[in-house]
Amino acid sequence: MFVSDILLHKGDRVVSVSPDDTLSKAIAELSARRIGAVLVLASDGDIVGILSERDVVHALARRGTSALALAVADVMTRAVVTCDPDATIEHVMTLMTNGRFRHLPVVVRGRLAGMVSIGDVVRLRLEEQRNEAEALRHYIAAA
Ligand code: AMP
Repeated sequence: MFVSDILLHKGDRVVSVSPDDTLSKAIAELSARRIGAVLVLASDGDIVGILSERDVVHALARRGTSALALAVADVMTRAVVTCDPDATIEHVMTLMTNGRFRHLPVVVRGRLAGMVSIGDVVRLRLEEQRNEAEALRHYIAAA
């Protein structure tokens, strides 16, 4: 199974904010969309960072509520790890485990093509396991 299998169901829409937006605005977006991370895009569409709920927690722990007025650029992670749609689910799991993050933007020739979360990966793995078990049951019943 590949990242493209996830995007087939999920689509290519990615929620993003600008690096100049306030943390407060980004939090409103995370809450309204019920997601754990937003991508940070420059005005030309280039990926300049990623901001997850974990970054919000760290900023609040460090700065208290004054963190809410900070620019997203001051809180986000700048070195964003991405993958392409042909990446296997095993590869994505390895990237997420080694990098200790739960979100992975999908990029094709430098352009954003979607976002995969750990929830999407787990869902696909469960589906795979269910299909394997079903195939095995059929095989045994036919033997
Ligand atoms: P998460 O587990 O996705 O909430 O993120 C944990 C930390 O990793 C936060 O500091 C995020 O900004 C950062 N992070 C999340 N996704 C990525 C990614 N794809 N590449 C680099 N850092 C990331």
